[in-house]
Amino acid sequence: MIPKNHPRYESLILREKIKKAHDEGYLADSGMIAHGRGEAFDYLIGEETIATAHEAIKVAVATFILAKNPVISVNGNSTALAIDDIIDLAKVLNGKIEINLFYRTKERVKIIKNLFKEKGAHVLGSDDDELLFIDGIESPRATASKDGIYSADLVLVSLEDGDRTEVLVKSGKKVIAIDLNPLSRTAQRADITIVDNIIRSIPLMVKIANEFKKKDDKYLKKIIANFSNEENLKKSLEYIKLR
Ligand code: ATP
Ligand code: MG
Repeated sequence: MIPKNHPRYESLILREKIKKAHDEGYLADSGMIAHGRGEAFDYLIGEETIATAHEAIKVAVATFILAKNPVISVNGNSTALAIDDIIDLAKVLNGKIEINLFYRTKERVKIIKNLFKEKGAHVLGSDDDELLFIDGIESPRATASKDGIYSADLVLVSLEDGDRTEVLVKSGKKVIAIDLNPLSRTAQRADITIVDNIIRSIPLMVKIANEFKKKDDKYLKKIIANFSNEENLKKSLEYIKLR
């Protein structure tokens, strides 16, 4: 038991969730390391949603609402930390959810699919679906379900690897990334990068999505129009430097 007054309480609770997911067999060893890298950057931004992330979130939600076939890509880490928020986001934004694992095994896919199923959510990308490969890259890392990521015009990724982000971008899809490291290849390659922890940014996206759903296309397009991801990333780095 972690005492509630521990100064690192929140952070330790997240570690417990990650460890539990690893024990349950759906989070790869390297997923724990990826979490540690994220923690370090979260420390640097002060473990709060900074202004630049807030701006990127608004643009991301507006872009999501205007997309034709948007898909939220999930893996072991995002499932462990944010399964309920991801389900909420998919619901409010009418998006699909797809499993996409860097270290794909039948067992991990099965466990994650069932976790979502227990909560009444359907996920694509399991072995029950027709799986194709984006741009013919025949690696288990490039799988995409026919009705999901393969035909998506927009993919929301978090804790994603740089190589795969590149494949998605090259295949002409819009990519929204939630990534605490503004210097990662994923952060640099995505069209819209939210430099924030998924445990804060996804609930905030749900809240903003509920507001933006009532707006017209003109309003949404205006929000998107003035956004530069490059500028936004630069400002996030400036913020870290100042701190
Ligand atoms: P890249 O492959 O994009 O160059 P990388 O190899 O450094 O990046 P990966 O292990 O492939 O990193 O992906 C994990 C990424 O997810 C890291 O950039 C890490 O900072 C980020 N990350 C980890 N935990 C979280 C979290 N809870 N919320 C958001 N981002 C996170
Ligand atoms: Mg990587």
